[in-house]
Amino acid sequence: MISTIAFDADDTLWSNNKHFNTTEDTFKSLLEEYSTSSDLSAHLLKVEKKNIAYHGFGVKSFTLSMIETAIEVTQGRVPTRIISQILDLGRELQRYPLVLYPGVRNLIEKLSTDYTLIMITMGDLFDQERKIAQSGLGNLFDQIEIVSKKTPENYRSIFDRHEIDCSSCVMVGNSIRSDILPSMKVGCWGVLVSNEPNWEYENEARKPIDSNRYFEISELIQLQNVLSKINSA
Ligand SMILES: [Mg+2]
Repeated sequence: MISTIAFDADDTLWSNNKHFNTTEDTFKSLLEEYSTSSDLSAHLLKVEKKNIAYHGFGVKSFTLSMIETAIEVTQGRVPTRIISQILDLGRELQRYPLVLYPGVRNLIEKLSTDYTLIMITMGDLFDQERKIAQSGLGNLFDQIEIVSKKTPENYRSIFDRHEIDCSSCVMVGNSIRSDILPSMKVGCWGVLVSNEPNWEYENEARKPIDSNRYFEISELIQLQNVLSKINSA
């Protein structure tokens, strides 16, 4: 029987990645007349992946990666005016109005009466705190964890700290790489929500389709069906 549900937040409870995509489009148009790169998105992704090891995930890391890409693809000729505009884009990204996916508040309210709920979210502390506050969901969760990365060790330490038995815990998220694989590795059930297109980095992992502890849903409100299935098995 399931007793705990752990939720990812960005692109699971609310939309987030699409704002990064919009920013990336603006970034590309800013560089159009200066860039010598044939594929700016691919170049940016390469820089972002390198910078994860230095700056982690989130808006700050993304902003630095845009600046670094701008310098590289213009051989250092990018005007400082453009760098200022990129910094503005980074700040804009921390101001978008947060919108929950349909039915999320209702669902979380209902589940909070029957289950222990944990939110496990990754990114910049400051920005994640802003989004959690704006979501209005904070007080429905028993625990909220903001982490710099999502590895099996991190999940293990969170679940140990809160004395959660992984075999009765479901991890729900939109990323195979960050939410599903590392939590299933420490014994959780995994539910992938494929709401909308992911950041490409998060897609670079194989789905554990051969595991009977893995489920896929296209909208979060279908989670209750999966819980009934697991609980009645
Ligand atoms: Mg996510």
